Formats: sequence, C-alpha cells, structure tokens
Amino acid sequence: MQILIIGNSVACVSAIREIRKWDKKSSITVISKESLDPAMPYYSPVVLPYYIEGKLSKENLFSIRMDFYEEMRVNVNLGERVIAVEPKEKVVVTEKSKYFYDKLLIASGASPRILDIPGAKNKRVYVLRTYEDAEKIKSDDSSEVVVIGGGPVGVEAALSLLNFKKKITIIEIAPYILSTVFSRTVSEMIEKQLVEKGIEVLKNEEPIEISGNPVKSVKTNKRKIKCSSVIMGVGVVPNTDFVKGVLKLGARNGIVVDERMRTSEPDIYAAGDCVELKSLIDESIRPFPVWPNAQETGRVAGANMVGIDLTYEGGIRVNSLNVFDKVYFSIGDVYDEGKRAKEIERNGTIEFYYFSNGSLIGAEIIGDVKYAGLLKNIIRRKLPIDIDSFNGVYDFIEITAPAVKH
Ligand SMILES: Cc1cc2nc3c(=O)[nH]c(=O)nc-3n(C[C@H](O)[C@H](O)[C@H](O)COP(=O)(O)OP(=O)(O)OC[C@H]3O[C@@H](n4cnc5c(N)ncnc54)[C@H](O)[C@@H]3O)c2cc1C
Repeated sequence: MQILIIGNSVACVSAIREIRKWDKKSSITVISKESLDPAMPYYSPVVLPYYIEGKLSKENLFSIRMDFYEEMRVNVNLGERVIAVEPKEKVVVTEKSKYFYDKLLIASGASPRILDIPGAKNKRVYVLRTYEDAEKIKSDDSSEVVVIGGGPVGVEAALSLLNFKKKITIIEIAPYILSTVFSRTVSEMIEKQLVEKGIEVLKNEEPIEISGNPVKSVKTNKRKIKCSSVIMGVGVVPNTDFVKGVLKLGARNGIVVDERMRTSEPDIYAAGDCVELKSLIDESIRPFPVWPNAQETGRVAGANMVGIDLTYEGGIRVNSLNVFDKVYFSIGDVYDEGKRAKEIERNGTIEFYYFSNGSLIGAEIIGDVKYAGLLKNIIRRKLPIDIDSFNGVYDFIEITAPAVKH
C-alpha cells in the first residue's frame, strides 16, 4: 500500500509512528512545502520563541533528524507545495510533480492570519509560524517593535525579544490580552509581569494601518506608534486552499472529519491544525489548533489508515505559557464569566476551576503544574463534582492516575 502524507509537522510524525507500529510493509511518502536542510527536516513550532530568544540552539530546535525517517522507512520530499488533490484518480499534484496514493493523510496545519489593513504586507512585517519566520525575526535589528495581537503567539514573540533591549508594544483589540486562553484575572497577572519588564500593553485598541515600507509606524484608532518592525499574531487559518471544492470544509475552513479522522472522501484522512473537531466539552465543531490535538489526531488517523480502529474523543484547548519564572497553564473553557469558578491556593500555586452542570469544564494553574495533565481526563469523564468540597486536581490523582500518587 502507498501511504502519502501532506505536511511534516506534529500530526505527520505522530501518524508515522502509529502507522509503523502496525504496518511495517507499506511505503510512506511525506511531502512538505518548507525547504529545510534534508538532514534536519523537523522542528516543533511551539519552541520557535526559545530559538529567537537564544535559549535553544538550532541543533536542538530540529529535534527529529533524518535517521528517524530512515528508521521508519519514510521518503521525505521537502520544498514541494501541494496544489491539488484529485480523489478520483487518487493523485496529489504538487508544483513539481504528481504522487499516487492508496491512503492519503492531510496534515497541512495552519498559517498565520494576516489582518486586512493597509501595509500588512510591507517589509519588516513578520509573522511567527515557521523556522523561516523565526530566522527573519531573529535577524531583524529594529529597536522598536510593535506586536499586533496579544494572543499566545504575540505574547511569546514579545517575550522572546525582551533580552535584546528593544522597545516592545503589544496592541490588543480585546479588553485584556490572551482573552481566548486565560480568564481576565489570570490575564491581568500576566500583563502585570510584562509591564514590569518594560513591555507596553495597549488594550481595547485597533490597528488600522501600517505605514512605511519598510515599516515606520503603526496607526491605531487611538494613536500612532513609531516602530521599525511589526510582528502580527492574530490567530491562524487552516491550510486547506488546495482541497477547496474537493473535501467538505467546516465553517472556519477546516477539513471536516469524523472521529476516525476520515474526511468526506474515501481513503483521505486529515489531522492537526487543518481540521475542525468536535469539542470534548460542548460538542460544538471548530478548529483546536494546539499541539496535543495535532499529536492525538495524527495518531488516530495513522491507526485507521492501516486498519486499526481508533477513535478520537474530542478536541480541547490546552495552553501553557512560561512568563519569566512562572508557568501559566490553562485547559478547556475558562473565560466564560457566567460559569461558577473556584479558587484554591496551596504552596504558592494558584488554581482556578470552572464548572458547568456540576462537572469540570476548565481550569487554570499558575505555579506547580505537575498534575495538570490529569485535568483533561477529569473534564473528559464529566465526573460529578461537589464544588464546595472540591479540592482541585489532587482529588483525582487516585482515580485518574494511580501511578502518580505522591
Ligand atoms: C510560536 C508558536 C507557539 C506555539 N505554542 C504552542 C503551545 O504552547 N502549546 C500548543 O499546544 N500549541 C502551540 N502552538 C501550536 C502548535 O505549534 C500547532 O498546534 C502544531 O504545530 C500543529 O501541528 P500540525 O502538524 O497540524 O501542523 P503545522 O505545525 O502547522 O505544520 C504543517 C505542515 O504542513 C506543511 N504544509 C502546509 N501546506 C502545505 C502544502 N500546500 N503543501 C505541502 N506542505 C504543506 C507545512 O510546511 C508543515 O510542514 C504554537 C505555535 C506557534 C507558531
């Protein structure tokens, strides 16, 4: 059997591992549009900010080397963009060639959304998603940088530049930064830390124009900010252009998949940031563009492609942010102020829990996140919880993970 995978990131590698667990014979070919050193074809986008900051060397950024692909007997074709998929002929068309498949996995991920404002494509306007993006940001010598978007990528980009003594301004359209990830309370704790280190944070403010080519300033609805580079971090869009009209897409342009990661066409599977998933919490369907979902959906797709029946339980948002000496962790629905929340403080760690219909739907932990991994299990099981006597994740260590008793 010929297995073809589009994309060479988290979902792809997870699928390869799973496929080879069950199937040693099929041929596997990966096609990816990024032109990277063939000896070092893989990095995780999650750690790019550490690379920019200088905490992580290039050697360590490229964490999976060619020997992995050789061991898994995978052919890797880098620097090839897929432009079409033709399910009737079972063929994938790239800018250079054509590839036939018996089973196809689309793991093409997502790309940064670009704001539709004048100057958004000018010189020295950057995004942060790929190694190439990180290299551009790293080698830019601007002393004044505006970060458009106070989401996780914008905040991480700002933090990665702090050591370079640049003046950094974050512009956020919402009333508080990180509003899709943390509650207002936690967001304000993070903002306080950023401001103390000299980052300016402007909220309730909308960028309307980037002037100069290369960049000279950003105009908002309230002021003009002088700068010589801009980093835009305003969310992502699924990379699905090449399957428009071929596969069923959801409301946010992600590929629609079932719980086995099957798309609307036979023998075509999809996984990672390019798909829309059923939520683990409320059954809504939307993209969950985070690493753990990419890894798990890649695994489920890989298994099903080789005839192993594995199902995905549903998407959940999980984020973790290191701000200087503190770790901020968040999972599930945490920003709905209508839900009841419980705060627990122990040994310097602060925990917030959010409930709906007597079950946990989200949590935030600031400090010791040793047991944070158990929270997904608690949310997934929709266990009934007595909120008054609830003592946080520690209540569940025995039920969810007997092996990690302390
Ligand atoms: C700076 C940053 C920080 C992040 N931090 C976190 C975090 O803390 N926690 C977390 O959970 N997640 C984080 N994420 C998100 C996480 O990186 C993604 O969820 C994950 O990378 C998704 O993996 P993926 O395999 O679906 O696709 P991607 O990583 O998007 O990779 C897509 C692959 O497809 C290829 N491709 C795309 N289009 C084509 C085409 N037409 N033809 C050929 N190849 C194509 C690309 O070259 C690439 O190899 C972060 C992302 C960034 C950028």
